[in-house]
Amino acid sequence: MSSRAEDCLKDFISKNGAIPLSEFWQIALSHPEFGYYAVRDPFGTSGDFVTAPEVSQMFGEIIGAWVVDIWGQLGEPPCFDLIECGPGRGTLMADIMRISEKRSTFKDVAHIRFIETSPKLKQMQKQAVKGAKATWHDKIEDISSNDPCIIIGNEFLDALPTEQAMRGADGWQQRFVTYKDGRFEYIWQKADEAILMHLPSKTVSGEVYEVSPARENFLKSCMERVKANNGIILFIDYGYEQSHYGDTVQAVRGHKYANVLDGVGDNDITSHVDFDSLKRCAEDFDFKTSSCVVQGRFLMNLGIEYRAQALKNTALKSMGADKAKEVHLNIDEALRRLVGKDQMGELFKVMCFYFDENLKPAGF
Ligand code: SAH
Repeated sequence: MSSRAEDCLKDFISKNGAIPLSEFWQIALSHPEFGYYAVRDPFGTSGDFVTAPEVSQMFGEIIGAWVVDIWGQLGEPPCFDLIECGPGRGTLMADIMRISEKRSTFKDVAHIRFIETSPKLKQMQKQAVKGAKATWHDKIEDISSNDPCIIIGNEFLDALPTEQAMRGADGWQQRFVTYKDGRFEYIWQKADEAILMHLPSKTVSGEVYEVSPARENFLKSCMERVKANNGIILFIDYGYEQSHYGDTVQAVRGHKYANVLDGVGDNDITSHVDFDSLKRCAEDFDFKTSSCVVQGRFLMNLGIEYRAQALKNTALKSMGADKAKEVHLNIDEALRRLVGKDQMGELFKVMCFYFDENLKPAGF
């Protein structure tokens, strides 16, 4: 049986002809009524995938320490926006706000602003930050404040769509999706000139390149806000440091890979983030960028091992030996997942973008 997202896409293609990969992706994931994110909580062992904040509170606590440090470097502004893009269940923000209680005024002055399109996830986020000053926005541009801001996003950019392009004998071709004989199918068509501007300067023919105007435009909106009001942008995502070719578009359902064109609306669709293209985009905007570090190094530089030890000590003091032993094993396992080279530690990268050259972001 076809899903409503599938029916919607079928109708759209029959009216308009084949659509670019990015349009297919956008509707499948973010259609306001029946897109993948609109109707479900995809996180955790019973969902489709597990993100770093859902692995352990340590992740959000370390990001929280980073945020509070930047707030200090900005001169502890008495009004400021803490903007999170694509907050999922709101777990990262809840952990940030809990750890920031150690700096009492921070919590009082932070205005949390969530950039979120999913009605279902907005409800979960409301629960997660109950009692804090928080508002929801569909887009960065919808925020009307002029306060300095700290913008963060974990596994957000990977959900914004990419295009794929390949150079052949007939010039640049672009990947489109059509509907034929009862199923969606990829086809290559002459590429839209506008997407070619986003390609790296040197390319190899016959290879698939991914470009994401959506990600670059999102970063630009963030940079406009930071340039006008001061602040910083931090993105964490799986991806690569230097632009290169390769098809990384993938669908996931129930912790297993699925076909991108099947199960529309029921599969998460992502691709690896090209941090090099974001760096080029930032430089065009006169922004400074940190180095692009692997998540494991970033978290270790910020002392996640010490945080793990502190949590273990608390467990020892507050519970019986057997229970504490179990908690210790869980903490060790979570730490390994977050920083281990064969886990999230190396695949995930961290990069920040800022205009104020006095800022010295920690962890890089
Ligand atoms: N940061 C969270 C969730 C990552 S999943 C975590 O680490 O657990 C991606 C999130 O981005 C979801 O909350 C999804 O609803 C949101 N999202 C996806 N596309 C979006 C868009 N175009 N605009 C705003 N939010 C979007």
